Parts: sequence; structure tokens; C-alpha cells
Amino acid sequence: MQGNTHIVGGITASLAFAQFSNDNPLVLVGAGVIGALLPDICHRGSKIGRTFPLIAKLVNTVFGHRSFTHSLLFLISMMVLLHMLIPYRAISIGIIIGMASHIILDMCTKKGVKLFFPATVSIRFPLTTKTGSKVEGIVLMLLSMLSIYFSYELIVRFIDAI
Ligand SMILES: [Zn+2]
Repeated sequence: MQGNTHIVGGITASLAFAQFSNDNPLVLVGAGVIGALLPDICHRGSKIGRTFPLIAKLVNTVFGHRSFTHSLLFLISMMVLLHMLIPYRAISIGIIIGMASHIILDMCTKKGVKLFFPATVSIRFPLTTKTGSKVEGIVLMLLSMLSIYFSYELIVRFIDAI
């Protein structure tokens, strides 16, 4: 999936989480966007890869594309790391939710992801699409509409509380 789809995916997932959590929704969404871009550090052409080209090259050389950084092992390692390094819950949870949304979206592509890295098997959903395809455009539109709906719910809840 393309960077923009991942960003909107991260926003949607963190807004969905914000519906039933007491964490600051703005912090959740900000962290969610960062988390949604993070797994593509394995790819030099990605948004985050272009920002940190040396790290991207290193990760790509060591692990390859869509392997370690798209796995449960990476997700769990990041949970432990973030829990130890960042005392603010909304940031840690937001990043993890964004990362999970990225992995799920990439599982909708033909290539899939190495979810169980170091096992080499690629995991994907039964129905897949190509990166940059019309279907991805539709997914992006649906995610945007969901984000608007979740934002509306949060705003209504905020107004009701004052
Ligand atoms: Zn990816």
C-alpha cells in the first residue's frame, strides 16, 4: 500500500481506538500516523525511508522488504521498547495501533507480509489488491469516511462533556 493509504489507515485505527479509551485522541492520532509509517523503514522509496535513507538501507540489507518490520516479533519488540522508553501511554499505544494498521493493510496486497518472521512464509488475506490500484483508491476513500465518522463521534462526545 502507498504512504497516504497507510497514513489514513493509522488515523482511522487510532480514532477507532479513541472511541472507547480515555487517552488524548489528538496524541493517539499523531502517534498513530508515526506508527503507520514506521514498518516501511525496510524500503528506501517509502516516505520514512526517504527521511532516514541510511537506516532504511541497513534494514533492507539485513532483513529485506516487508519481513521483520512487518512481523508480530517487531510489533511485540516495539511494545516492550516503547513501554520502557516512553512513560506516556497514549504515545506508545498510538504507535502500536498505527503499526498494526500498516501490517493489516499490507496483508491486503498480493505480496503479503512475513507476519511470523523469522519464518519465511508470506501472510495475506484471501482477497488482495495491487499497490496503487483503483481498489486501493476505494480503500483510501472508505478509510477517510470512517475517520470523519469517528472524528464526529469524538467531537459530539467532547461537546456533551462541557
Ligand atoms: Zn509496508
